[in-house]
Amino acid sequence: MSRESEHPVEHLVVIGVGLIGGSIARALKHEGFVGRVTGVGRSRENLDRARELGIIDHWSHNIAEAVHDADMVVVAVPMGAYDRLFAELAKVLPENAVVTDAGSTKQHAIDVAEKHLSDSSRFIPAHPIAGTEQSGAEASFAELFEDRLCILTPAENADPESLAIVNAMWEATKSRVVQMDAKRHDDFLASVSHLPHLAAFALVNAVRKQGDEEHDPFQFAAGGFRDFTRIASSSPEMWRDIALSNSEALASNIDALQAELAELKLALESGDGEMLLQSFSAAKKARDEWLEKHGGSL
Ligand code: NAD
Repeated sequence: MSRESEHPVEHLVVIGVGLIGGSIARALKHEGFVGRVTGVGRSRENLDRARELGIIDHWSHNIAEAVHDADMVVVAVPMGAYDRLFAELAKVLPENAVVTDAGSTKQHAIDVAEKHLSDSSRFIPAHPIAGTEQSGAEASFAELFEDRLCILTPAENADPESLAIVNAMWEATKSRVVQMDAKRHDDFLASVSHLPHLAAFALVNAVRKQGDEEHDPFQFAAGGFRDFTRIASSSPEMWRDIALSNSEALASNIDALQAELAELKLALESGDGEMLLQSFSAAKKARDEWLEKHGGSL
């Protein structure tokens, strides 16, 4: 697809040079997959820093200026920015440019692309199952995707050539690339990613609200609390957007968690130790098997 032969993609434009966009640019530069990278974003400070760190070669606040000769565009902004961004992108995207993204929910990404792009077949949605609770270009690193899953959710009309180059791009980040239907992706991720984040936010709030001026419950928190709540340090804006863009699946997962908690509460009230033991043992078995089978890498 590149006009020159040295790199599979000559000009990559990364919109949103944060943890994910920055890590993609770093990994692809390191592998020689891209010739040059232009960053698009809102914060001049972040973009200057990204250039200083060699993550991008140039930057612009202006999408039209950045993408006019792009071979590939990677969208790595919060889900809440998609609608406006794709509307803008649609007006300036070169005919042959391929678009992919890294957003955490996929049906919303497809709906927005189909709504705005004149040819949505060149949009190949992706979700790298990799991240940290940090944000911004400074937090990015080339190895973020190594041996992590990256789920592509091409729509039925996906252009095969675009799919092939996007597949190769994610493979160049050293991700293990798989394909899945967008709706299935959103249902799965609601349970294993989105629900745990909401549960972590809720747990910290529940503890926080029990404190007062004389009593700080956090002073007694230790390793278990730290492990359970690490993801409550994630970006609140990003998680607001993810939750809203997968609200239906997430709501039914909240119901499922509430039902589990209600059963535990009932067992406590009736002193049913056997029920507690069964519930804890089933959970321990499932988690141990997950660790053994997948190395806890998902
Ligand atoms: P981040 O906050 O580190 O980076 C996002 C960047 O996008 C920021 O630099 C921000 O200034 C910029 N931005 C926001 N709105 C913009 C707009 N309208 N135009 C241009 N730039 C804009 O966030 P991140 O962790 O890199 O997340 C980016 C995307 O990747 C999100 O959609 C998120 O759901 C997804 N994702 C995140 C993780 C994770 O663990 N962090 C994992 C997988 C996928």
